Amino acid sequence: MLTCSKERLEDKIKTFSKFGDTGKGGITRLSLSKEALEAREEFCKRCRTLGMEIKTDDMANIYATIPGEEGLPAIMSGSHMDSVKQGGNYDGILGVLTALEAAETIVTEKIKHKHPITVVVWTNEEGARFEPAMMSSGVITGKFDKDIMLASKDIEGITFKEALEASGYMGEIENRATSEKYKALVELHVEQGPVLEDEKIDIGVVEGVCGMINYEFTFIGQADHAGTTPMKYRKDALYAAVKTIQYLHDELDKLDSKLVYTTGKISAHPNIHTVIPDCVKFTLDARHQDPEVISQVLDIINEIPKVVEKCETSYEKAWSRNTVRFNPDFIDYVEKNAKEYGYSTKKMYSGPGHDAQFITEIIPTTMIFVPSEKGHSHCEKEFTPIENCLKGANVLLQTILDIDKN
Ligand SMILES: [Zn+2]
Repeated sequence: MLTCSKERLEDKIKTFSKFGDTGKGGITRLSLSKEALEAREEFCKRCRTLGMEIKTDDMANIYATIPGEEGLPAIMSGSHMDSVKQGGNYDGILGVLTALEAAETIVTEKIKHKHPITVVVWTNEEGARFEPAMMSSGVITGKFDKDIMLASKDIEGITFKEALEASGYMGEIENRATSEKYKALVELHVEQGPVLEDEKIDIGVVEGVCGMINYEFTFIGQADHAGTTPMKYRKDALYAAVKTIQYLHDELDKLDSKLVYTTGKISAHPNIHTVIPDCVKFTLDARHQDPEVISQVLDIINEIPKVVEKCETSYEKAWSRNTVRFNPDFIDYVEKNAKEYGYSTKKMYSGPGHDAQFITEIIPTTMIFVPSEKGHSHCEKEFTPIENCLKGANVLLQTILDIDKN
């Protein structure tokens, strides 16, 4: 079977790991930073060498295209090149580099195809410099208001608009990805979790992105002296919060084993070691592919009493997202192609969000996952062996060619 080049892919990964190199195995390549612009320049240089035509839209998303038959919509593949602070060399960038490698294989092997093939780079996926995450795919799919996004500021007070204008990559609104211009998007990404490696699976066949809810809980007690207030008179908001977290864990553990939930943020007021806490807040993030399970989570939340350990309890939804399901035909192509190469597969949902989850609303989309060593991601330890990267690139290549044929 046709395969991508391991040497070329390895060279790509090595080259791009220099842009924002922290010297400790990872990168800091914040969106539209100097390092990110260097990576974009190298990307465009390589695309031009392959004879690709490069366009950018008003959000600086890059579309590099190998021409196809006149009038046919293009097949798009890619991801993002920005990282979090002290992030890894695989999140996002691997999706761009495997798409570029697939395109390079098609060009150098002179593989016949009808549809144009586009490698895409989405601007500001991480939201690490300018909030929110998935900003540009969100703008072009109408999820976010562009003017509000342009006003988003980094910690130095530079607005996204200023960074965009200074980047040299701001193009025309007419160049945005639309359903008329694009037939498909396939995004390869690292799993960012431990399941594939643990189960010795080569390729994650991604069926969609998990729905999630995020709630904030508040407990109001009474601040009193830690030395003089007997235990029976206390209204300790932290103790009430702890009891509630324990209750949530006990109850949520009875639900489906694929449910994941996290209390990642907690605050205690006044947070002084001699004062009984009077106000405590914590968050609960819960994710599952089945909306029914998410509604069971809500039932459990609604069971929380109005008073816990003499403290008033309340909660409110911070935000939520519905489960997104990818294109069934494309999911089948990914699974079939992996099997034809002799790779092991597992169908799964993504826990993290990706640009693909927004684009799928306007263009038929799917994703391919490759394993993350020990599940590490958003850190310098992020690693995927080159053999796994190559397997992902091969499945991506064949999936693009299948979409071209069908
Ligand atoms: Zn990513």
